[in-house]
Amino acid sequence: MPRASSWKLLGLAAFAVALSLEGFVQLLRRRRKPLREVLFFPAGITCTDAELHPERPVPCTCKLPHVDSSLNRLLRHLLSAQQSLELCVFSFSSLHLCRAVLLLHERGVRVRVITDSDYMAVTGSQIGWLRKAGIIVRHDQDTGYMHHKFAVVDKKILITGSLNWTSQAIQGNKENILVVDDTVIVQAFIDEFEKLWELYNPATFDFFPNGKNSSPTLKNDPGYVQYHP
Ligand SMILES: [Zn+2]
Repeated sequence: MPRASSWKLLGLAAFAVALSLEGFVQLLRRRRKPLREVLFFPAGITCTDAELHPERPVPCTCKLPHVDSSLNRLLRHLLSAQQSLELCVFSFSSLHLCRAVLLLHERGVRVRVITDSDYMAVTGSQIGWLRKAGIIVRHDQDTGYMHHKFAVVDKKILITGSLNWTSQAIQGNKENILVVDDTVIVQAFIDEFEKLWELYNPATFDFFPNGKNSSPTLKNDPGYVQYHP
């Protein structure tokens, strides 16, 4: 039977081990390699089946090059989402990126989209398809453009840059995308998204931005009907 002093020593040793383990874990956390990736466009035309059609047989036998392009990498970052995707994009007509967002929605990822009211109505815009799939899309009601182009994956990874989400930009323009997981920067973009999400909440749209003085004009309109819910 160990004496009291031996128990004390054992206790101290266990405490020291626990402390060093915690220190080791903290060190590992601190040493986690930050995500800092830069993608430049235009991207070469490559096969995106591995990312967008995982149900198809591999290896793919299509004629397109099976190499990594900036588009493949961008798709993979987006498709890494497990919980949430906040998307704030000026124009959205890329079929590839639309397919990726629809895939995430199908997988149960919570997708929210903010876009520009003028550009969501242009020919080729994919916003209607997102809405038809059940994704909630909010848009600005300003005279200025909602010109952001960023996405936040799982509230941890920020994807942002000059790239409009259009095939023209992806395959024709000189563009850049930055992918980072810096918590301070990611949080700033989440805050901006949440701010705009509330600002563009259709339930609180201010249809009379000049104040209450503007509504009597409408009420004098013979076509105006006041509804009482
Ligand atoms: Zn292929």
